Formats: sequence, structure tokens, C-alpha cells
Amino acid sequence: MTTLASQRCLHHDTREAIARCPECGHFFCRECITEHDERVICASCLKKIAHAAEQPARRLWSLWPVLQGGSGLMLAWLIFYVIGRILLALPDSFHDGTMWQIDFSATQDE
Ligand SMILES: [Zn+2]
Ligand SMILES: [Zn+2]
Repeated sequence: MTTLASQRCLHHDTREAIARCPECGHFFCRECITEHDERVICASCLKKIAHAAEQPARRLWSLWPVLQGGSGLMLAWLIFYVIGRILLALPDSFHDGTMWQIDFSATQDE
């Protein structure tokens, strides 16, 4: 069994540990440990927690692919819309295929 009193700080071999970090389980001296949310925690774990606290802001960025997918959908819709407009702009004879028949009959009659 290792007791707290026999432990040394992870960063300072000569210093006696005064607390154990609940996050990483290492022992630290008064200088290396800080209080965070009413509990003692080591500096490196505090950094990790601070980093994790930034996560909600990053979650906004995780929406980016969704937005990109949405814009891709918009682009696809725009392309289909333009194609539709072009098709509508074409004469009805093109859709019926009569446009070509007229050309044939015109050459045959002459
Ligand atoms: Zn720690
Ligand atoms: Zn220390």
C-alpha cells in the first residue's frame, strides 16, 4: 500500500505530495495541484478539462458537413431548376420530336 505521505510530487522528486489528482491518479505537491470545481486537480488535467470545456464551441463546427451537404443539395436543386428552365424554354416541337419530322418532310417535299 502506498500512502500519501510516502509519495512524492510527480514533477518534484524532493517535494512531498499533498494531494492526489482524481483524474490521472498521480500525486502532486502544493505547487503542482490546483483547485477546480471544489476539487484538487493537477495542472495537466486542468488543461485537459479546460480543453474539454471548449468542446461545445467545436460542436458548432461539427455542423459544418451538414451545412455543406445542405448547400450541395441546394446546388443540385439549382442545376435541376436550370435544366428545367432550359427544357421549358425549348420549343414544344423539340419535346414531341416533331421538330425533326418537319425537317425531314421539308427536304422530302422539295
Ligand atoms: Zn491529473
Ligand atoms: Zn510539484
